[in-house]
Amino acid sequence: MTELLTDRTAVVTGGSSGIGRGIALSLAGHGADVVVADIDPEPRGGGIKTVDLIAEDTNGSGAFVECDVSKTSDLEQAVEAAEEAGGLDIMVNNAGILHRQPFLDITESDYDDLLDVNLRGTFFGSQIAARKMRFSGGTIINVASDAALKGYGNRTTYCASKGAIRTLTFAMAEALGPQGIRVNAILPGLTETQMSSLQRLNDDEMEDLFKKIPLRRAGQPSDVGDVAVFLASDLARYVSGASLLVDGGLTNTDTL
Ligand code: NAD
Repeated sequence: MTELLTDRTAVVTGGSSGIGRGIALSLAGHGADVVVADIDPEPRGGGIKTVDLIAEDTNGSGAFVECDVSKTSDLEQAVEAAEEAGGLDIMVNNAGILHRQPFLDITESDYDDLLDVNLRGTFFGSQIAARKMRFSGGTIINVASDAALKGYGNRTTYCASKGAIRTLTFAMAEALGPQGIRVNAILPGLTETQMSSLQRLNDDEMEDLFKKIPLRRAGQPSDVGDVAVFLASDLARYVSGASLLVDGGLTNTDTL
């Protein structure tokens, strides 16, 4: 690994599992100290805790903070932990939930539950981080989705949240750029995590699915993690207001 992120401190929300875990491991692998901020220290589906893997496999360091991103007081604690570890440089708003529901059945409380985690968590996570970064600079990475660019009829609240995260990213890039803060979004496509439930498919279903993806496989959390390393590092020093698809080519190609 490199020393691209040595002496940088990051917060990764939803870092116990899936894509957030991939991001936390990649950032730590390139030298960052990572605060894993999650409602649960254990990875969804079992396995070694992210902070233990960071200690075993990387040259960075890790700490866990219990954090529900829909609560600003929890986000403040996560950012404070990074401040104590040397000062927040990288905020990754990754925590998200997905409801698959028929549009006509969605209640106000379903709507609030999803938007509070996905959008409110990203909005206030960014604001709380930016207040700390404004004198020293920093970078914010928001994990949106290919659902920020296209509609899935059985995931309407999710699409609404992800589309909003994408344009929120653009707006914050303008608002925060003069203060030396770069803001970018990553738009993962189908990625192998508990959320995507790929493990429920049989081999034939999996093969049919992968035929639609130009790179012929699902994404792995590390595929997203490595893009986050680029965006967080000085290699991306002139990149702000970008939304970067990490989807094996699926979204912008003809899948018929
Ligand atoms: P996941 O369900 O595997 O992991 C999500 C993590 O977030 C878990 O550790 C969970 O405990 C945590 N979390 C949930 N609610 C939280 C809250 N209120 N506060 C703090 N942490 C919370 O999901 P994933 O697939 O890794 O998804 C991560 C992000 O990537 C999400 O924003 C998701 O929308 C996005 N995404 C995923 C895919 C995919 O195919 N997996 C595709 C596009 C975008």
